[in-house]
Amino acid sequence: MYDPTMVPLACRIPETIRRALDERRRTSGETIDAIVEAALVEHLQAGWSTLFQVSTAGALVEGVHEGAVSVHFLKQHGDLGLGTFTNLDGEMVVVDGRCYQVRSDGSVREVDDAERSPYAVLTRFNPEPPVELGAFAGVAELHNRLNALRTTDNLFYAYQIDGLFEFVRTRAVPKVEEGTRLLAAAARQPEFDFHNVRGTLVGFWSPGYVKILTVPGYHFHFLTEDRKAGGHLLDCRARSLTARVEREANLRVALPETPSFLKADLSHDGSAELDQAEKQKGDRKNEPARP
Ligand SMILES: [Zn+2]
Repeated sequence: MYDPTMVPLACRIPETIRRALDERRRTSGETIDAIVEAALVEHLQAGWSTLFQVSTAGALVEGVHEGAVSVHFLKQHGDLGLGTFTNLDGEMVVVDGRCYQVRSDGSVREVDDAERSPYAVLTRFNPEPPVELGAFAGVAELHNRLNALRTTDNLFYAYQIDGLFEFVRTRAVPKVEEGTRLLAAAARQPEFDFHNVRGTLVGFWSPGYVKILTVPGYHFHFLTEDRKAGGHLLDCRARSLTARVEREANLRVALPETPSFLKADLSHDGSAELDQAEKQKGDRKNEPARP
């Protein structure tokens, strides 16, 4: 299949290396492209785009939201990402290496490195050149635009999307008691509407086969350009945005050793409940902290 993210490379190599390459191709069945790519990745320590995740979405569904790792630890594994905080206290947005918390009162603060998180997904963002997204009228159309940029359904993708949004609707989960299931927490979430606001969407696309580990499909968190408002994305509309995309072929999951994770029953598939919680509309409508 033609992959527009791959580019040709021509170079001169010694005859002995060429013979070794042919021998490897013959014995392993790999293409020369694959052998050269693997050798260069190894030599240059490049190209291993890794998604780093703490805990599982299934654990979050079950109400395991005791802080497992510090924000300091998260920043060592990525400069772009999303997640939540101890007891689901708001929405995490990590952009340009800075970690922000969007609280259920609509306020945003840059969090201290000592704050803790029960669930987060990050990457050290090294995107392809930016792509202009044309006008779209809602989040489903945004997904279609981004689908057209994906070359496979079987790897992960990270996104940073910047520009002027005509409309954005977000939510921010309120802090809950220990053990509260995600769906119950999401039922109490306030929503926020923004009009004609500059900002950034940070997020990921994940394959369906990881549905017990992470949120399948698209998952975005929003932050305004002035970093004063944001939340988990429910809907948006824009005329033109700039998208930066990185394909991720490695997944690293750090599992919590907190008492609540160790004791939780994670044996059943909570993906339907997760899907409901991710898309659920709140029962309260709040004005954003700023116009
Ligand atoms: Zn979210």
